[in-house]
Amino acid sequence: PRDRPSPRRPRLLLMGQRRSGKSSISSVVFHKMQPAETLFLESTTKIQKDPIHSFMDFQVWDLPGQLDFLDEAFDFDKIFGELGALIWVIDAQDEILDPLSRLHRTIIALQRDYPNVNIEVFIHKVDGLSDEYKLDTQRDIMQRTQDELADAGLENVQISYHLTSIYDHSIFEAFSKVIQKLLPQLGTLENLLNVLCSNSGIEKAFLFDVLSKIYIATDSSPVDVQSYEICSDYIDVIVDISELYGYERLPPGPPIPRPLSPTTMARQEEGEEICSVIRLHNGMVLYLREINKFLALICLMRKESIEKQSLVDYNVQIFQDALKKVFEIGGANKQ
Ligand code: GDP
Repeated sequence: PRDRPSPRRPRLLLMGQRRSGKSSISSVVFHKMQPAETLFLESTTKIQKDPIHSFMDFQVWDLPGQLDFLDEAFDFDKIFGELGALIWVIDAQDEILDPLSRLHRTIIALQRDYPNVNIEVFIHKVDGLSDEYKLDTQRDIMQRTQDELADAGLENVQISYHLTSIYDHSIFEAFSKVIQKLLPQLGTLENLLNVLCSNSGIEKAFLFDVLSKIYIATDSSPVDVQSYEICSDYIDVIVDISELYGYERLPPGPPIPRPLSPTTMARQEEGEEICSVIRLHNGMVLYLREINKFLALICLMRKESIEKQSLVDYNVQIFQDALKKVFEIGGANKQ
């Protein structure tokens, strides 16, 4: 049998005008920067190929103003020839007509050659705006875009709109939705998580991209922001500790021996992932298991469910094996 090509990481491109918030978004989501620190960020002035250690392949491009994206220097085939999403950032606190007309030109140009690229509009910096104003702005942007595209003879372009801010979890939520759309395996992942939850007494399970804290899948019970927040805080703690005491995450390669923390961490040999369990004062338990170098599973459950931890461990192991098959993770990670 022929070798199947190894699956690529989902590819994201962040575009928008100067000061729309692109560097801030990438710093907060992918580099753990505190939102308030972005006030001192230098604006993006060129294409940044951010070599991040994440489940997704992420790049930030600054658009016209300084650079013309139709410039031949840009290898659009390389970017859009593969499955991917274009995220267009519009500053909702600023004048929107000019950024919108650039967005429209870009969509029209893209539709010609790359109609399959997902177009995601982040109506950004909505913190501080009233709910009514937010929705009005969104409606206005949607209407103008629809009209403009219809004038260009494009009736059925799928565009998604997200209200985002780096000051709350909306930016992570939006990224999660963007990523999930790019995963052909999403339905399978959800099913696997559902099975895991029902067999192990788990109330909520998330599969997180560790570095960005974006969840790429969750079981089908509704997501409440608090569960998401606590799981994402937990990842921060675990990643910090594992950076101090665990194995080397960066650069990829064989793990470098480090002192192990005595309790929760253990991974010196290939195949032994970080696992950690914490009991919360409200009777709930958080259970984290690293799945591969990009992904971690985090589950919220009642403390009674963890009394049979070996069962949970076993089920998680089965889940992990299934996931490996789904993603052919071995091949994908070696890219
Ligand atoms: P870029 O030129 O597109 O990379 O824009 P920057 O990332 O440099 O952001 C420009 C300014 O917008 C900075 O002062 C950020 O602090 C601010 N900013 C970015 N995101 C947000 C947000 O969600 N809310 C608010 N209020 N300000 C933001």
